[in-house]
Order: sequence, then structure tokens, then C-alpha cells
Amino acid sequence: MAQNPLPFYERVEQALNDAQLQAALQKAAGKFDLARMRAWDELDDVVAMRDRAKGVKAHTLAHLDRYLAQLAAALRAAGGQVHFAADAAEVQAIVTGIVRAAGHDLVVKSKSMTSEEVGLNGALAAAGVRAVETDLGEYIIQLAGETPSHIVAPAIHKSREEVAALFSQVAGRPLADADIPTLTAVAREELRRQFLAAGVGISGVNFAVAETGTLVTVTNEGNGRLVTSVPPIHIALMGMEKAVPTLNDLMLLLELLPRSATGQTITSYVQMVTGPRRAGEVDGPEQLHLVILDNGRSDLLGTEFEESLQCLRCGACLNVCPVYRLIGGHAYGGVYSGPIGAAQSPLLFGQRDFADLPQASTLCGACRDVCPVRIDIPRMLLALRRRQAEGTAVSAEKIAFRAYSQITRKPGRYRAAVRLGGAGLWLWARDGRIRRGPGPLKGWTRVRDLRPFARRPFLGRRKDEG
Ligand code: SF4
Repeated sequence: MAQNPLPFYERVEQALNDAQLQAALQKAAGKFDLARMRAWDELDDVVAMRDRAKGVKAHTLAHLDRYLAQLAAALRAAGGQVHFAADAAEVQAIVTGIVRAAGHDLVVKSKSMTSEEVGLNGALAAAGVRAVETDLGEYIIQLAGETPSHIVAPAIHKSREEVAALFSQVAGRPLADADIPTLTAVAREELRRQFLAAGVGISGVNFAVAETGTLVTVTNEGNGRLVTSVPPIHIALMGMEKAVPTLNDLMLLLELLPRSATGQTITSYVQMVTGPRRAGEVDGPEQLHLVILDNGRSDLLGTEFEESLQCLRCGACLNVCPVYRLIGGHAYGGVYSGPIGAAQSPLLFGQRDFADLPQASTLCGACRDVCPVRIDIPRMLLALRRRQAEGTAVSAEKIAFRAYSQITRKPGRYRAAVRLGGAGLWLWARDGRIRRGPGPLKGWTRVRDLRPFARRPFLGRRKDEG
């Protein structure tokens, strides 16, 4: 599931040495966060609204089986087909099966993190089906052969010059000096052809309303509408946590999602699809399929990590995270990055590839403060650290902590240890800092400097001066 084979700390190193990435992140993330603050200020009582939204998500998760059954029944009654997928392989089999059975070999896609999560494009390619991303950011990273680096802005790390070089290949002419509207027009021209030629459109789902079977997507580009209405078959992918009970609940969440994501009161398009094209309608697909993905989510229900499934995928926590703002999305190694990715990736995709992520946090709490549904990400990161420590604590570590506990209980022992340890640390110091510490300090100083203790401890100085 990890998308970058390098170890975490090497990915971090790479990101920290990428000056362009640093500049792009500081600019874009700061802009998004400022826009969010302004948009929240426009609301009468954003605190109460966030509490209500959290209540809706918590209630839905507590009764998820009921709401998923209701959603499936309502969508089937409207003429849609519903498939439940336990894992990535099942989604791949269901989607490629639908596409191949209909004899198509080209699909157009609008933005779907779920599709990224299950590696759908690779599975389609293996089945002889070409998938074309039509969200501008996704299109850029598909051309670059990369993965999204932000939930909302997948190509946040790309410069105009890099995009121009990619689009020059598509257009077959140099576009190095082209401005952004010109580059966008190149993408539009190319993608319009694909919309008309594709036999299947694949979209994500932001919310799925159980009482009506309505699938809702919020976008700022017209591609979502074309994907879901031009090709004869529409396949929508959603994680099981995207269900909401009623249209009223949807309205509440729609007040918060765009404001938290991009600072918009509402996105340019809010698309609500309830079933395939009906008799007499002029557009819309002949078939509508909804694929509902579990992929480890049901294992989190009823646990201390269930709260992570309340996520609206707004990206606000990424924009304020001091770690994300320095290392960007790719360093996290998976589809979901930033604070919520650090919590969800080990839970959904396993400790083997993502064991380091819960450590990639200062626990400052900024993510919790800006989350529209108040997800307590720091609490979950600490719980993950605790779980890791319980599972892997080596006896040497236990002995060290027992010794620490004995030393700190007696003032005399503590003072002697500080004197001895303090003097010892100076052996490794250069210019007042330890950059490569010995023994257990080696790992700690691999990514940060350590200051040795003061030559004269505070207690000693106080005594002298007092
Ligand atoms: S955890 Fe909260 S802030 Fe972060 S993406 Fe999810 S909803 Fe947005």
C-alpha cells in the first residue's frame, strides 16, 4: 500500500531538500487556511455547527449497518446497482468486470481518493482499460506519473513551469511561456475528446444520503458532471463512512466542507445523482453502479479509532500542520497524508509500511482546532504510539525506564545523575550541540540536534547565588 518504497526518514530528507516544494507548500497551505478562517467567521455560530456536524457523523457511524442498508435499498429503488467490496481487490474486480462486460476500454475519472486508495488505475490498465483523470490536478499528476500530495489539491507541489512541460507533450508544441489560462485550455481541449469517447465514467462520492439514495459530489470543475452524465455507464466509489442519514444532515455538512477545504461558501458544483437516466430525460448514464468499500474501516467501528472515520476529507488539518507544511504529502508514503493520514494509514493499511507516521507529529493540536468535525487526531496518534510501544518495547528500554524511575525518586540520586550525565553529554557536543549522539541518542539525533545539559545545573547556580 505504501506508494514510495524509500523509508520514511529518507522521504522526509528528500522533501526537506526540495526548495520548490517548500515554497509551494508554505504559499498554498497558508492561503487555504486563511480562506478557511474567513469563511468560518461568516457563520453565525461555527462552534455549534461543528458540534452538530460531529453529532451527525458519530450517530451515522454508530448505526452504519442500518444506514448503508437504507442507502442501498433507496438507490436500487431508483434504478441503481449497489456493490459491497471488502477490500481493494474486490473493488478492482467489480469495476474492471463492469467495464469489460460492457466492452469498453476507455474510462474517464473525476477525483476520487477511494480510487487512489485501491489502486484502481493500475488494475484497469492490467485489464486493458485506459483510465484518464479529468480533474485538472489529478490530470497533471497522472501525466507526471505521480500520486496526489494533498486531499483537496493533488498537484499542490507542482510549479507552473513543470505543468507547462507536461502539457507541451500533450499539445505537441512548446508551452514554456504559456500562462495558466492557456495551460488550462490545453487540458480542456484534450479532456473534452476523452469525455465523448469514454464508455464509462468513474467518480468519487463526498456524501451518500441514505433516505433518498442520493450520491453527492462537490467540485470546482465541470469535469464531475461530464464524468457522471456523458458516458453510458457511471460507477461511483465511496468508503462506507460517507453515508449520511438525511438531506437535512447533508445540508449541515455542506455548510462546513467547502468552507473548511477552500474557504468557499459553496463549491462551483454540488452534484446530486439519484439513479441512472429515467425515461424522457435527455442526459445521464444508462447504468449507475455504486461500489461501497470497507477496506479495514469496519474494524475501527466501536474502537478508540472510530472517530477517524468522521473525516470529511476537507484537508484543513493538512494546511495547519507544521509537519505537513514542511514535508508535503508524498513523504507520508500513502494516499492520505497530513495528520489524518498519519492516524489512518497505519490503521487501514497496516503498521508494516506506516509505523513511523504516528511519530510525525508535534501533537500541537492545530489539526483538532481546525477540523470541522473536531476529530481529536492527537489523541489517536498518542494511542497509536502507545500501541506500538506495548507491542515492541525491548527489555533494554524497560530497564532504562525502571532505572530512570529509581533515579528520579531520590533528590540525591537525581542530582548525581544530572552531574554525571551532563558532563558525559559534553563529550559528544560540537559548538554547543550534539548532532550525532551515542547509543539510544543516535536515532533521536538523526533528525534533530540535542543541546547538552548546562555545565552548571540550575539548582547549583541557585544555591551559589542564593
Ligand atoms: S481530519 Fe478533519 S480537518 Fe482533517 S481532512 Fe478530515 S475533516 Fe478535514
